[in-house]
This record gives sequence, C-alpha cells and structure tokens, in this order.
Amino acid sequence: MTIGHQKVIDESKSYSTLKFMDHKYNIGSVHPLTISVSANLKDIRKIPVRLKIATGNYILQTHKASFSKNHTSSICKLCSKADETVEHFILLCEKLDEARIPIMSKILNNGSLILAKVTTSLPVDLIQLIINPFCYVDINVNRTAFEETSNILEPLCRQLLYNLHNKRYALLANIDNLGSRKSNF
Ligand SMILES: [Zn+2]
Repeated sequence: MTIGHQKVIDESKSYSTLKFMDHKYNIGSVHPLTISVSANLKDIRKIPVRLKIATGNYILQTHKASFSKNHTSSICKLCSKADETVEHFILLCEKLDEARIPIMSKILNNGSLILAKVTTSLPVDLIQLIINPFCYVDINVNRTAFEETSNILEPLCRQLLYNLHNKRYALLANIDNLGSRKSNF
C-alpha cells in the first residue's frame, strides 16, 4: 500500500461512515448527472460510464459472481487481494492508484468545501459522494452549493470514474491477452 493510498483511506474515514453494501446508495436525482456543463465531446464521452456506476449497472466481479451463483470468482482480477466491490474499485484497488490518487485529492478538497456550506442531515459517505454528489445538495435550499456541485464536483467525480474505468479496462485486456497467449503454448 502506498502512502497516497493510505491517505485516501484515512481521509475517507473522516467522512464518517463507509458502509459496505452496494444497494444502499441513494441513486436519487440521477438527472443532474447526465447534464454536461460543457458541450465538449471529451466531457460528454464520460457520461455513460458515470451513469452505469450511478445506477448500479457497472459490472464488477462481485456482480458476475452473484449472476453466476458463485461459479465465477468475486475476487478482483487486477490485484487478486479482495472482492471487487464498488468500494474496492473506486477507493481501494491499489492497481488503480495511479488513476485514482491525483483526482481523489481534488474531490476530497472541493467536496469538503462545498459540503461545508450545506446543512445535511445525511452522514457524508465518500462513495455516495462520488456516485451521486447531488444527493447532498438541494437546489432550492442552497443554490450556490448546487451550482458548485454541478460545475466543480460532478466533473471531478465523472473524471475519476472515467479514469478508473479506462485503467481497469486496459489492465483486464492485458490479463486476458496473457491468458490466451499462455493457452496457445
Ligand atoms: Zn483490486
């Protein structure tokens, strides 16, 4: 575990509870997640991955294992160290550190600045914040916080998920390649 990795875990703990069930996340207002503040293609390309994750339709090993009634392993293929849950993918898998750490610190910094402006009765959960930051801000209660979430926080979360997805995809392609090469010999 790298120092940066430990820092993310420590900081996520200060965001009160990190709970470990996939289904509990408040999908809530998915609608603002689909709005791109810029009309640029680079930004729009990131929306499908972000929405799949927000709606629980992004398939990780734990989902594959439950679909296959555990004939498929739930262990993360990238690190082989833990079940590949949404928490493992977004926060913990060390093989994704490089794609995660730089942007995670921006999310933590901006997220705490924005959430300091809202009085939310919900305990703030880092995974929830990344999956759908809009669940903590109400446009009718604090318009500034809502706009900052749209303009600053959501693009960062979208970028993080896009980076993680690309890195995971590239690593899995490599693993599959090695596997098929081995079976040819
Ligand atoms: Zn892993």
